[in-house]
Amino acid sequence: MVVSVEGLVCNAVNCGESDKMLTLITRQYGKMSVYCRGGRRISSKFMTASQKFSYGDYVINKTDRLNILQEANAKISFFGLQKDIRAAALADYMCEVLSDVSVEEEPDVQTLDLALNCLYVLSEGRREADDVKTVFEWRLIERLGVYPDLSGCHICGKADKPWYYLDVMNGELTCRDCGGKDKSGKQEDDGTAHITILMSGAEVYAANRVISAEKSKMFSLPADPGVKKRLCEASEKYLINHLERSYKTLEFYKEISSL
Ligand SMILES: [Zn+2]
Repeated sequence: MVVSVEGLVCNAVNCGESDKMLTLITRQYGKMSVYCRGGRRISSKFMTASQKFSYGDYVINKTDRLNILQEANAKISFFGLQKDIRAAALADYMCEVLSDVSVEEEPDVQTLDLALNCLYVLSEGRREADDVKTVFEWRLIERLGVYPDLSGCHICGKADKPWYYLDVMNGELTCRDCGGKDKSGKQEDDGTAHITILMSGAEVYAANRVISAEKSKMFSLPADPGVKKRLCEASEKYLINHLERSYKTLEFYKEISSL
């Protein structure tokens, strides 16, 4: 069956002498592995559209055994990412996570749009890389359905406390007055490990805003650099613990960021 799809190349791995295997996240079929014959040749008609981070229209011969690329037309290439190694490293991480949470035959247009929005802002240099990461992670947490209840302490219900502990796996806040404390590393009777994140009231408020903001306002983060930094660390810890794996692309991004 020949299908026309619109999608983002999240990964491109060399295979054979001049071919590539693409991981496409498409609007129509979710995640697809697509064989791109001759994609590495300079003269290939797929040269641009088969590059990592390319977004465009793809015509694919979809068979039980293999999906083969027939036509490709890049609409956006996010060229800005090629000029900035830190931005490219973050884009790599976001694409790897997007690929991880995407499922074959189950399109998720909103999650794809979130990634495209973040890649665009990053590529154009409109926001600081860490801010893009923060927004991508918090909003993805919401998309995955594991978003914590940040409306207040889950015991007393109060939302005006200066500090809370966020229980990552239960998605609950506990204020210090109700016994909130750092339980990281401790184990429940059933063997599950506790992971907690200390968050100030300002950080809880800001995280809530990032999640609930309209798309056009989702990058409005607090001005305080300290709050922004901890918001970025919190989203990462929360997301990575729920995805239950580590990312070399994330480690590389953090290494570059620390230089
Ligand atoms: Zn409380």
